[in-house]
Amino acid sequence: MSARVAVVTGSNKGIGYGIVKGLCKQLSGGIVYLTARNPDLGQKAIANLKGELSAEEHAKIRFHQLDITDEASAIKFGDHLKQEHGGVDILVNNAGFAFNNDATEPFGEQAVVTIGINYYGTKKFCDVIFPLLRPHARVVNVCSQAGLIKSYSDELKNKLLSEKLTVAEVDEFVENFTKYAKEGTHQKHGYPNSTYRVSKAAEIALTFIQHRQALKDSREDIVINACCPGYVNTDMTNHKGSLTIEEGADTPVYLALLPPGTTDPKGKFVYQRKVISW
Ligand code: NDP
Repeated sequence: MSARVAVVTGSNKGIGYGIVKGLCKQLSGGIVYLTARNPDLGQKAIANLKGELSAEEHAKIRFHQLDITDEASAIKFGDHLKQEHGGVDILVNNAGFAFNNDATEPFGEQAVVTIGINYYGTKKFCDVIFPLLRPHARVVNVCSQAGLIKSYSDELKNKLLSEKLTVAEVDEFVENFTKYAKEGTHQKHGYPNSTYRVSKAAEIALTFIQHRQALKDSREDIVINACCPGYVNTDMTNHKGSLTIEEGADTPVYLALLPPGTTDPKGKFVYQRKVISW
């Protein structure tokens, strides 16, 4: 059997870096792609991992540039994966972005940027990689409990929770939010006052749709889950998070390595290795 190929987006630092490290330790005989939008930062991370992994573990790492919001970058990487390995076995969609609480950019602009990376970027990269997924592939979307939808209007909740929800409807959900965010009327329309929360809710909704599509796929045993890594000490949290990056990587790595034939968790939202409701 050829080596299993894993891809981790946004892995030059933070939780993604921890996920690469965890996969290098636990994926026997595999290849792990550390990706970064800035190649210098990617190479620095790989050099740094030399001090944290054995020579055998470190030898599993490959690098490729990837900006998930740049279609040309995603396609170039997809072509590379196809040519070099013929397919992908593990995809961890970790890359993400959040404005600081004191950011001065107008709220509507923050909505466009945050949703552009966390929702549209993840979705577009999946569109490139999903055709390459091999049977038994595992996909992990690193979302957040910030994406829980308890506080949304009943109308929005019912729509998002529908088993018939489509990707076009998730697009509509974020497009409406962005429009209302620009007007300053998003809360009146049932949305929370946070672009990050909406972007992560959309990412969780997307995961459940991807799972339903995977069930109909002719490729056997593709398992797709969303997760929350917990509150982690990274740049995103201004290093206020209580968990180390290794602790934050635990659930994503666990989901990435779910054994063949897994029936649960499958199409779920997972925190601390346990399924939680959305
Ligand atoms: P960091 O800010 O530390 O790291 C984010 C990573 O994503 C960086 O490598 C960054 O690259 C990369 N990235 C950002 N935009 C893009 C893009 N367009 N294309 C490719 N890569 C990109 O964040 P965390 O490690 O804390 O977060 C990782 C994930 O976990 C995110 O999805 C986040 O939402 C989620 N999460 C984090 C929590 C936490 O407590 N930290 C809690 C819940 C969820 P660059 O260095 O170039 O900016």
